[in-house]
Amino acid sequence: MSNSTHNGFEGSFLGDASRIDNHTKMECKICWYVYDPAQGDAQWQIPAGTPFSALPAHWRCPNCDGDSEQFMVLID
Ligand SMILES: [Zn+2]
Repeated sequence: MSNSTHNGFEGSFLGDASRIDNHTKMECKICWYVYDPAQGDAQWQIPAGTPFSALPAHWRCPNCDGDSEQFMVLID
């Protein structure tokens, strides 16, 4: 039977995209621009409510033109 008592560290996904949920703000580590899913991005015509993970692959920082891969999870 599956009566296991696992106390695993399921939250330890450091740096993994699975930590990014639909409301996670992401910060550009070059210029500190913050992408807020609640606001979207007018410069790229990204509608409000678009999670960072759903941004187009060619999306870049609207402030410094940095690659989206160098954005970091912003922890409030
Ligand atoms: Zn930037």
